[in-house]
Amino acid sequence: MSGPAATTEAELRARLAHTAHLSVVHGLNRGSSGNVSVRWGDGFLITPSGLPTDGLAAGEMVYLDMDGHAQDVLRPSSEWRIHRDIYRARPEAAAVVHAHSPQAVSLACLRRGLPAFHYMVAAAGGRDIRCADYATFGTQALSDAVLAALRDRRACLMANHGQVALGDSLESALALAVEVEDLCGQYWRACLLGEPVLLGDAEMDEILARFRDYGQRPAP
Ligand code: 13P
Ligand code: ZN
Repeated sequence: MSGPAATTEAELRARLAHTAHLSVVHGLNRGSSGNVSVRWGDGFLITPSGLPTDGLAAGEMVYLDMDGHAQDVLRPSSEWRIHRDIYRARPEAAAVVHAHSPQAVSLACLRRGLPAFHYMVAAAGGRDIRCADYATFGTQALSDAVLAALRDRRACLMANHGQVALGDSLESALALAVEVEDLCGQYWRACLLGEPVLLGDAEMDEILARFRDYGQRPAP
């Protein structure tokens, strides 16, 4: 799902603040946990560090260039390196959502990702959703671990921390983060009942092929 193209930086700042608000509404974040960004110009706009993720104002968004230099008063999210490195490595990424969503955190605390227990795991772009190795928050080491776990994927868990999702718009990145959180809850409950039957590689590859032509087509 792509959102409407933003026409001005002011509009994009407002949409970024609204997406941060929605991450709280959807139960992905609380307090100052999590952060959201959107590509803009030669850099990106990102939520500020340490402020409540809900109730941020458009004027509190921070613009960073790809070297991490800020042009605004507030300090950017401590995880700006993850966002910057995703924009550098993944041209298709227009927005990134990082969350401490409870069910993803629980699974990530076991340092486990999601296997192919449900076909919607393919929503992240592959046969599974990996869990990135642990590293301290806000470090280059954490960004490196996340980028490795995101190889050929649009989402990953983060050991003892949370999850990251990227998309071609703020709306699609948020929707994927919500989907990952739901999948973690579904996997957790299935594991409580027994050992989930996993889909095979060929079955997942069929889903991945179908997803390439799923949903509405643009008007001719
Ligand atoms: P920031 O407030 O600096 O964005 O940090 C929140 C967070 O989730 C760190 O991993
Ligand atoms: Zn975090």
